[in-house]
Amino acid sequence: MQDLLANKIEFLKGVGPKRAAVLNKEAGIFVFEDLLNYFPFRYVDKSHIYGVGEINNDNTYYQLCGTISNMKLHGTPRTTRITATFSDNTGQIELVWFKGLKWIRDKFEPGKKYLLFGKASVFNNKFNFVHPDIELFNTGDISQGESLEGVYPSSENMKNQGLGSKQLVKLIKNLLLLIQETLHETLPEQIIREQKLMGRQQAYVNIHLPENTDQLQKAINRLKFEEHFLFQLQLAGTKKKREQTTPGYVFGQVGQHFNAFYKQHLPFELTTAQKRVIREIRANLGAARQMNRLLQGDVGSGKTIVALMSMLLALDNGFQTAMMAPTEILANQHYQSIQKLLKDMEIRCELLTGSTKIARRRQIAESLLNGDLQILIGTHALIEETVVFKQLGLVIIDEQHRFGVAQRARFWKKSSIPPHILVMTATPIPRTLAMTQYGDLDTSRIDELPPGRKSIKTIHLYHSQRLRMIGFIKKEIASGRQVYIVYPLIKESEKLDLINLTEGLESLERDFPRPQYQICQVHGQMKPEDKDWEMQRFIRGEAHIMVATTVIEVGVDIPNASVMVIEHADRFGLAQLHQLRGRVGRGAEQSYCILLSDFKLTADGRKRMETMVRTTDGFEIAEVDLQLRGPGETQGTRQSGQIEFKLGNLLKDEKLIRHCRQLANSLLDEDPKLQLAAHAGLRRQLIKQFKSAFDWSRVG
Ligand code: ADP
Ligand code: MG
Repeated sequence: MQDLLANKIEFLKGVGPKRAAVLNKEAGIFVFEDLLNYFPFRYVDKSHIYGVGEINNDNTYYQLCGTISNMKLHGTPRTTRITATFSDNTGQIELVWFKGLKWIRDKFEPGKKYLLFGKASVFNNKFNFVHPDIELFNTGDISQGESLEGVYPSSENMKNQGLGSKQLVKLIKNLLLLIQETLHETLPEQIIREQKLMGRQQAYVNIHLPENTDQLQKAINRLKFEEHFLFQLQLAGTKKKREQTTPGYVFGQVGQHFNAFYKQHLPFELTTAQKRVIREIRANLGAARQMNRLLQGDVGSGKTIVALMSMLLALDNGFQTAMMAPTEILANQHYQSIQKLLKDMEIRCELLTGSTKIARRRQIAESLLNGDLQILIGTHALIEETVVFKQLGLVIIDEQHRFGVAQRARFWKKSSIPPHILVMTATPIPRTLAMTQYGDLDTSRIDELPPGRKSIKTIHLYHSQRLRMIGFIKKEIASGRQVYIVYPLIKESEKLDLINLTEGLESLERDFPRPQYQICQVHGQMKPEDKDWEMQRFIRGEAHIMVATTVIEVGVDIPNASVMVIEHADRFGLAQLHQLRGRVGRGAEQSYCILLSDFKLTADGRKRMETMVRTTDGFEIAEVDLQLRGPGETQGTRQSGQIEFKLGNLLKDEKLIRHCRQLANSLLDEDPKLQLAAHAGLRRQLIKQFKSAFDWSRVG
């Protein structure tokens, strides 16, 4: 059967090649189906006619009935426009056209009544309408009672081609007449019944041409449900397929390494959340399927120990493990802290980074291959082809958003069957994102900080209050603490007019003179060995202040540092601010975060500052970040495979998404490959929507 919906839009009555080109370009409408899914962004009640005198809001749609007079052509040939006066018995308002002038000029006859529909705007302190929709008024146009009409997104170019909202309504009417009967149900009857959903055909008709508000709402609900449900079904199917077809090493036993560490070397009591997550990981590693788990935990929530204990499980089962960090500093730090935790245990652990010397590399390569080396920690250097393991069973990846999926996949080649993967991220991911963007992974959350932490006090100061800040820092240093000062950029950018790090450093050296005060600096353009040398000065307590760019953003753990100053804090995103703040508050002392900004802030900038001052809960901050920036920009959003929902909204639909996910899972439990007759519609739609990605349902 030929799919009518796949027809080129050009062939729809009322379109043709010229309009089709505009629809392609401006609205992404290529085939009938695209137009079917081009939804109104709002609806107006056309049964109500306003009086001109009632107009009191710009950016608001009005429907008016009146006469058009006083048409005038203005300006030079380059900047022509036509104005006219629209009048009814309550007042007058100006109409303006900048384009399609020839056509407008002869369109309206004086004395005739027209129906106008448009968005009021303000010009020179007066309301006007720019390019309103106008047609001859028929008394029959106005129905009794409610009469909703969709308002469709339409660009200037579309309007010039006669593709304003009103014309789009006409096209959609043509389309629905043609294809309505072919709109088959996709959802199983049982779900429709249980969820009390409107039928698919009726829903498409009503979202475009609503009978009334009630029907419209039902139509939106139905189509939104379908959108989320199909997506969740696709994710759940992909995940199930991978679990079934990708064998995993079985870490069946908890052995001597894990037990010895747990009983004798654990430096503190694990938090409830850490225990829960370790249980989740253990269960996962013990089942015969490859683990692909995302471990989310705020900065300082104690992910390292969870990673280590997972690695010990691998060792107990005769496997090697690797841990990869995005920067050399971080890899180093992981190496140090894991060495420290393992100090009395006979476990061989090495560090491999870009700056590891060749001779050392050789030794590492050799002991990896013969199995002596059990834990390898490092940077990207780990995925080079020359790094060959005897038996790699588990890979821990820290701060995943810096590594692509492709890089992760390279580990798979280092083992006969794919090793287990645990991805750790300190970026708390809002629940809706976790359920959509990461829906094909298992997720664990450490949502609790170790006990005894004093909550970090956050203060927002303007640059004019700098002296206050300097006094405060001196006091903290006098009582033995250390301080970070972070700058957004290294090189001066005239455009942004930032105090750059170097200049900042100079002024700080005046405020904190040697020898009483020692300042070190770390930034991304230094050589690794210089960086390390400076870091070491700070770690050893020889420097009081570390001036840095965001290289210290992730992972650095110096408990004695109790103050984090962020210069031009409003230029950082919330996720980054949160991570920076997480560098302090790691010791027993009260810690502080000082956000410095200019007095003038954008609305978003102010909201970010307020949020940081109000809360230290990373998950809450992530939710605000999502609200401010939308799903596309939020950290933790996967780069590739960005999901765009037509009706669904990641900011608002958490409950619905969760519900759809549950339904999708139970449907797949019953019919994993969608073979039941009741699921034929679903199957058809998934093939259409997800194409080759729908291969999880292939039988056999
Ligand atoms: P992150 O999740 O940011 O990687 P870390 O693993 O570096 O956090 O842990 C932060 C700090 O908290 C470390 O100094 C670590 O030793 C300590 N820590 C971790 N878990 C606990 C715990 N359960 N009780 C007390 N301190 C802990
Ligand atoms: Mg960490």
